[in-house]
Amino acid sequence: MVSQLSFSSASDLKKYIREVKDFPRKGIIFYDITTLLKNRYALRMTVDRFVWKFIGERVDKVVGIESRGFMFGTMVAYNVNAGFVPVRKKGKLPSKVIEESYSLEYGTDSVEMHEDAIEESDTVLIIDDLIATGGTALAVTKLVEKLGGKVIGLGFIIELTQLGGREKLSGYRVESLIKY
Ligand code: AMP
Repeated sequence: MVSQLSFSSASDLKKYIREVKDFPRKGIIFYDITTLLKNRYALRMTVDRFVWKFIGERVDKVVGIESRGFMFGTMVAYNVNAGFVPVRKKGKLPSKVIEESYSLEYGTDSVEMHEDAIEESDTVLIIDDLIATGGTALAVTKLVEKLGGKVIGLGFIIELTQLGGREKLSGYRVESLIKY
């Protein structure tokens, strides 16, 4: 689906992101996309931009990262005629899973994917709302590759450029719609 609104400049989307200071803890600015989701134009513009970035690519599966990656990932999958695969935090998926751990500021966390979610040689696009250090996204690329999938790109609405996520994902195609 292509809208005329998609032709306006990329920075236009920024005004739909709410910046919440000191959430979930002091010193963090939380980039809240609920204000973008609720606006019909901003929502369409966001999905259209993702679709355009990867137009011409064969995408078999879109993988969305819990939980905000589910909303956009599913919409992108529908529009590029691909299937959708959820990646969840540990313990939430009901069937057999594969798991990948990654480091946080304090300790580690893990993400899981159903072991039958990706077929050998599927082409995969990974979508999340935001890339900060890139740790979550890198763990997800490893899950996809463990199952024999080929990551053709990663798409984020927001990129926090100072935190080195793009560098952590070097060798992969990383696309973001808004940079801070
Ligand atoms: P990272 O693994 O450091 O790239 O963190 C990315 C994940 O954490 C994404 O799933 C984001 O939704 C979430 N996240 C990290 N920092 C923020 C932030 N400042 N505002 C909103 N979400 C964030």
